[in-house]
Amino acid sequence: MRKHQRNLFQSFKIVLFLTVINALIIGIGTGTIFNVVMAGSDEDMAKLDQLRREASTMNTNESRSLAATLAESINIGKSVIRYEPIPTSGNCIAKYDGDGQLGGYVVRYQESSKVEYERLANLVHELTHCYVHKKYDRFFYNYSNVAKPLDKALITEFGFLSNEEALQLKMFKDPKNKIAVDTLSKNLKKLKSFVPSNWDKKTVFITKIDYGSQSPHKEYDTVINQMMVFCHYLECTKQPKFYSYLRALADDARDRRMTGKPVSAEVPVPK
Ligand SMILES: [Zn+2]
Repeated sequence: MRKHQRNLFQSFKIVLFLTVINALIIGIGTGTIFNVVMAGSDEDMAKLDQLRREASTMNTNESRSLAATLAESINIGKSVIRYEPIPTSGNCIAKYDGDGQLGGYVVRYQESSKVEYERLANLVHELTHCYVHKKYDRFFYNYSNVAKPLDKALITEFGFLSNEEALQLKMFKDPKNKIAVDTLSKNLKKLKSFVPSNWDKKTVFITKIDYGSQSPHKEYDTVINQMMVFCHYLECTKQPKFYSYLRALADDARDRRMTGKPVSAEVPVPK
């Protein structure tokens, strides 16, 4: 090997070494490098579409409902500017341009979780927040807002709504909203009563129902859609009473998102 070739080879080895070290440092620092390769939001969105197709071909009331739920998530996914991994929980943040026009969403979800059903259900939960936002006057309330905010929306220099919580609190205090929230709470309470006490998966569902019950104005549609994904993986067909009522709640909430109809009455148990 000639001298300049040897120097070139040495340089290449040094660059390769530094690249590997750099990748490892990034990987250790974020704890995600290997998971990003394995999972990733693109793959997860493709999996949601695959689930949607599987659910469509199963053609039961529950699977059709899941397919429609997933179609909404896939649809709103087109408005997501970027996904960010987060170890627990998650959220959807609306981003606006300088004129106050909605530019899209930033979605944080448990992208690195190796448990597929938890990861995908979490993604659907956060995308449902975005979908609700798009459908209901650009707020994260899970129903058509009968009360309107009085204050002007304030957009920060980074494109986020800075007074969203204050605006929502104002709407929440309206008595008409209380009726809607009470009705949604009763639906969740009834669903909880259908969780069989001897079901080995009951904690998974009770945890979500309780979470939704704490703040039904924001977490009703989200936990219902999340549980619909759980059910695809956790054999809810063996719990027909629970599953058919969950499906009825999912259909009712989706119908309200589509039509903008207000919450009118408790959802009856399917015959
Ligand atoms: Zn949520």
